[in-house]
Amino acid sequence: MRVVVTGGAGFIGSHLCEALLAEGHEVTAVDNFLTGSRANIAHLEGEPRFSLVEHDITMPFGGEVEARLGKVDALFHLASPASPADFSKIPLEIAIINSQGTHNVLELARRHGAKYLLTSTSEAYGDPLVHPQTEDYRGNVSTTGLRACYDEGKRFAEAITSVYVREYGVDGRIVRIFNTYGPRMNPEDGRSVPNFITQALRGKPLTVYGEGKQTRSYCYVSDMVAGLMAVMAAPAEKAKGVIFNVGNPDEREILAFAQIIRELCGSDSPIEYQVMPQDDPVRRCPDITRIKTRLGWEPRVPLEEGLPKTIEWFRSVIGDM
Ligand code: NAD
Ligand code: UDP
Repeated sequence: MRVVVTGGAGFIGSHLCEALLAEGHEVTAVDNFLTGSRANIAHLEGEPRFSLVEHDITMPFGGEVEARLGKVDALFHLASPASPADFSKIPLEIAIINSQGTHNVLELARRHGAKYLLTSTSEAYGDPLVHPQTEDYRGNVSTTGLRACYDEGKRFAEAITSVYVREYGVDGRIVRIFNTYGPRMNPEDGRSVPNFITQALRGKPLTVYGEGKQTRSYCYVSDMVAGLMAVMAAPAEKAKGVIFNVGNPDEREILAFAQIIRELCGSDSPIEYQVMPQDDPVRRCPDITRIKTRLGWEPRVPLEEGLPKTIEWFRSVIGDM
C-alpha cells in the first residue's frame, strides 16, 4: 500500500514510518518540522520506498504537493504538537493545526478514497471524572483554559472526522493515544519523560509538579505503533467510525515514576517540587477492553523494559547537546 504519515518526522511518526516500511509499504512522511526533526528520519532517507514531503498541513494539499504524494491508499494523521509546554508557547498554531489542518488531511483522504486514522488523545477526557477512562466517557474539559487549544482542538478533530465518515463515507478511525514514551522524544520538549531523564542524567533536580500524586499510564512506543497499525488494518465493520483507546493501563503516581527513572539512571539528583500547571489532569488510565476484545491488541513492553531502552537513547544524544 502507499501510506502517508502526517507528522512522520515526529517521535511516534518516525517509529510508525519505520514499522510500515518493514511491512513492505511505500511510505511518505509529510512534515514541516514544527516539533519534529529531520534527524528522526535521517536513517530512512536512503530507503527507496520512503519519501519526505515538506508541507504545512494548515495549507491545503493539491497542486505540486499532492502530485508528489501520488495515489494515497492509507493516511495516518499524526501532525500536531503534543507537549503541554507548547500549549502556552504556540497555542494558536495548535488550535489551527488540529482544526484547519485536520480538515485539509480529511479532504486528501476523501479525494483519494484512502483509509484514514486520526491520532487523538487521552486529553479528550480532560481531567476525567470516570476512571479508568472508557471510550464512551465524554470527558471533563475546560473550553477556555491553557490546555483547551489542544484538548478542544483534538475534540474538534474527532468531530470533523466523524462528519467525513458519515457525510462522505470516508473509512476513518480514531485512536485516543495515552502517554507514550521511547527513543526520539525531543529532549527539550518539557514532557515528563524527557525532563526526568535529562535531569537525572545531568545530575540536576527532578522537577515534580505539585506533590507528584497525579497519575499517568505510560506506553512504550513500539506497543503504540503496533496499536495504530492494528486499528488501521482492521476491517471497516470493526473499526470504521470507531474510537479506540490505545495505551498501557499500568498507572503510576508521578513522584514514584520520577524516582524509578532516577534509580534507572543511577542518579542521586534531588526531587524539586514545583507549581502544578493549570488543569493538569489528576488521574489518567486507559480502559483498553475495546481494542483488546475487538482487535486482539494489548501492550507487551513493561516500564522496566521500555525505560532502560529510552534512557540508553537519551544518554547517546544528550552528550551531543
Ligand atoms: P511530535 O511533536 O514528536 O510529532 C508531531 C509531528 O507533527 C512533528 O514532526 C511536527 O513537526 C509535525 N507537525 C506539527 N505541525 C505540523 C504542520 N502544521 N504540518 C506538518 N507537520 C506538522 O509528537 P508525538 O508525541 O510524536 O505525537 C504524535 C501525535 O500523537 C500527535 O497528534 C499527538 O497529539 C498524538 N499524541 C501523542 C501522545 C504522546 O504521549 N506522545 C499522547 C497523546 C496523543
Ligand atoms: N510533570 C512533572 N514534571 C515535569 C513534567 C511533567 O511533574 O517536569 C507532570 C505533569 O504535571 C503531568 C505528568 O507529569 O501531571 C505528565 O506530564 P507530561 O507533560 O508528560 O504529559 P501530560 O500527560 O500532562 O500531557
